[in-house]
Amino acid sequence: MKVKIRKGDTVEIISGREEDKGKRGEVIKVLPDESRIVIQGVNMRKKHQRQVQTKGRTLTPGIIEFEAPVSIANVMLVCPKCNQPTRVGIQRQDNEVQRVCKNCQSLFD
Ligand SMILES: [Zn+2]
Repeated sequence: MKVKIRKGDTVEIISGREEDKGKRGEVIKVLPDESRIVIQGVNMRKKHQRQVQTKGRTLTPGIIEFEAPVSIANVMLVCPKCNQPTRVGIQRQDNEVQRVCKNCQSLFD
């Protein structure tokens, strides 16, 4: 399946971790090969950082929070026009592929 989600889009979590369901956020990274995306503030994970010295820099030890990728199957695109999570259609116009909201029929982008 072709990835219809792009960086900068707003998505809503429709399944997956209970604590993330219903959350919305901006897509900050798309990983098309894995069909995963990274969403700002969603699917937060903690990583313990040991003190490391690299090339004269010292990384501060502690807990780093970061966004783990989410499967595209677990999200729905939120239409900027009608503000609803929606299915997306594809419309071709002059060799350009446009994404269309199936809810309100308005074009994305
Ligand atoms: Zn819409």
